[in-house]
Amino acid sequence: MQGGAEIRQDLVLVGGGHSHALALRMLAMKPIEGLRITLVSPASHTPYSGMLPGLVAGHYSFEQVHIDLARLCQWAGVRFLVAEVTALDPMTRQLSLAGRPPINYDLVSIDIGSQPELDTVPGVRAHAVPVKPVADLWQRWQALQGRLLAQAGMDYRVAMVGGGAGSVELAMAMGNRLADKSVSIDLWCGAPEILQNYNARARRAVMAALQRQGIVVHLNARVERVEQGCLVMADGARPVYDELFWCTGAAAAPWITASGLRTDGGGFLAVRDTLQSLDDDRVFAAGDIATQVNHPRPKAGVFAVRQGPVLAHNLRALLLDKPLRNHRPQQRFLSLISLGGKQATADKGPFSAAGRWVWRWKDRIDREFMSRFEELPGSMPMASWGCLPELAGAERQQPCGGCGAKVDADTLGSVLAQLSRQYPEHCRGNGDDAAAIPSTGASTVVQSLDVLREMVADPWQMGRIAANHALSDLYACGARPVSALAAVTLPFAGSAILQRELRQLLAGALHEFAAVDCCLTGGHSMQGPELSLGFVVNGTPLAQDQRLLSKRGLAPGDLLVLTKPLGTGTLFAAHMQLLADGRDISAAVESMLQSNAVAAELAVTHGASACTDITGFGLLRHLLEMLDADHCARLQLAQLPLLSGALQQLRCGIVSTTHAANARAGKVLCREGQVDEARMQMLFDPQTSGGLLIGIAADRAPVLRDALRQRAYAQAEIIGEVLLREPGDAPGVVVR
Ligand SMILES: Cc1cc2nc3c(=O)[nH]c(=O)nc-3n(C[C@H](O)[C@H](O)[C@H](O)COP(=O)(O)OP(=O)(O)OC[C@H]3O[C@@H](n4cnc5c(N)ncnc54)[C@H](O)[C@@H]3O)c2cc1C
Repeated sequence: MQGGAEIRQDLVLVGGGHSHALALRMLAMKPIEGLRITLVSPASHTPYSGMLPGLVAGHYSFEQVHIDLARLCQWAGVRFLVAEVTALDPMTRQLSLAGRPPINYDLVSIDIGSQPELDTVPGVRAHAVPVKPVADLWQRWQALQGRLLAQAGMDYRVAMVGGGAGSVELAMAMGNRLADKSVSIDLWCGAPEILQNYNARARRAVMAALQRQGIVVHLNARVERVEQGCLVMADGARPVYDELFWCTGAAAAPWITASGLRTDGGGFLAVRDTLQSLDDDRVFAAGDIATQVNHPRPKAGVFAVRQGPVLAHNLRALLLDKPLRNHRPQQRFLSLISLGGKQATADKGPFSAAGRWVWRWKDRIDREFMSRFEELPGSMPMASWGCLPELAGAERQQPCGGCGAKVDADTLGSVLAQLSRQYPEHCRGNGDDAAAIPSTGASTVVQSLDVLREMVADPWQMGRIAANHALSDLYACGARPVSALAAVTLPFAGSAILQRELRQLLAGALHEFAAVDCCLTGGHSMQGPELSLGFVVNGTPLAQDQRLLSKRGLAPGDLLVLTKPLGTGTLFAAHMQLLADGRDISAAVESMLQSNAVAAELAVTHGASACTDITGFGLLRHLLEMLDADHCARLQLAQLPLLSGALQQLRCGIVSTTHAANARAGKVLCREGQVDEARMQMLFDPQTSGGLLIGIAADRAPVLRDALRQRAYAQAEIIGEVLLREPGDAPGVVVR
């Protein structure tokens, strides 16, 4: 929440383009009291177009060229929703999202860029690689490089259709990258010349560079149709290609026109000089998707960048009832075109220059732009990754959300032990997550309760994670969920905002409950200083006459199967400190969203001997709960399935706030040979909506692991074995 007070208004930023990235940074520097900002983007990383050709040419890494929106939002205190907007209804102030419930706004801003026109020439959608979305282009480009590497000496024909700055830059970047390969590149341009709005000297410099690289430029060459492996030209020629890239004029997302708001002739949202829709003051737009009707300009990132500060000012002004500012885009703008290698040309009005120094100039401008999103005020620079020598003092950290916020096992255990002595008949729980309800004569009912503090800012995802997390206790018993009661605390907010929040949270939970036919029968909600969400869940055995699974029941010789990767504790601790990569956080969220329902079914049908779910106490403590007095276990640390980035964070000393308490159980560990210390620390990492740890006879374990992998638990793994503890042996867990 921005401003720390009751939330009264929702500003939704659709798309993480250049203007929004800048505006978001500016709005965060001076929060507006009572305003909640949400950014919606289909991916955690958004590309900076100026450096894109440099990425393809191999001058920059993926990270250097992309803004990590997840990290930016975490820094800014902005909610980040990984989602794609599919419709805008200005009447109800509602945005539809692909595959999830709609969200509402009080003020919306759109900066979703544009894509090459794919529907005017038949066959383009089916056969060509559009240069946007960049994520897809990058994937296809890497695949192409892989193919060329695997089949050295293969002749390959790359076709680029375009003629504007983007296409010539990309063609030369590709040429530079593939210079040592047997690849020909053809640039097909329907116009009489490339770079139509550039001055003649800049055009000549670019043509000369294309020629030097052996890129064949075809002018007045209109593509009429695209077929598999060949272009069909207006003059009937049928040049062949192996890979076709499409970089023609920009097109707008169709939902902009479908919103009913006025657009220009091309379907781009028509905006005034304040960047507001002609028809609705509460709808702003910037970047490629907007056309300033008084000052139309070509679609280029430089304009989107210039609009960012005006957009930030005007959003703030509208919310605070202050005067809005008019934006007048520049008539002439400096265009710097990279020429494949570390050379570039500059073009502004009649001025042009070319050479290595122009590339260095462009490189400096681009890096300066990107540094604004890397070096966020008050954050630790990313460059310090990997240099913390040991585990940091977790006590100084803000408490983690999710399971990192759990009361530690020792505290819980001692309180319950005391109370059960005091109330032997009524306090029977020993700290287990789920237990059978004392018999009432009816069939067995298992009940459990789990509550999480906010750990992801997206309320729909939070609802899904909290539901899965609570249901996991039932799955670990081999039970089928039947009903649930919710316990919700919502941050203080106006009634409209409360309703939006509650709807998203419960819709997320119901998405999971409905998938397993579990009924949300009621609950309790209240307001408080921070969000928390939990569920009491009830279940019955998966099948009639089936005995429930229990933590206990392991036999010596059993193998231990873990269904999901570890690492949510360290990753989210890193995320809170702005040290995590947004892609790792997205992958961790995906893992938390995965239900254990199917894993439980497989555990039961394969005859598991014992089972538990891995939550806040970390793997080691949960394993210890499973071991009888005459058992010990041996774990293969190298076999532990891990989330991407988790080990790197642990090696850097980034741990969740409950890690230290969990690590107290580490005294039972016995090292066999040289062990990887960071992997060992992973045994103490608290998990939210973690996997099941299943004990099963050795001959059935590989079958269960393979079945799990086939049913979407891609990282399921056999991680260790149960051993008989001979009298006199120290109790414990051997790690190697
Ligand atoms: C190869 C190439 C090189 C270029 N080089 C330059 C250059 O050097 N200089 C220059 O000025 N211009 C350049 N351009 C043009 C430039 O890419 C665009 O003008 C610029 O990216 C537009 O910025 P934007 O802020 O409008 O949106 P973008 O930067 O395109 O960002 C849009 C964002 O919105 C997200 N999004 C899209 N749809 C949705 C949705 N439905 N819901 C939610 N989010 C959505 C996208 O994932 C993306 O993150 C180049 C283009 C190409 C193809």
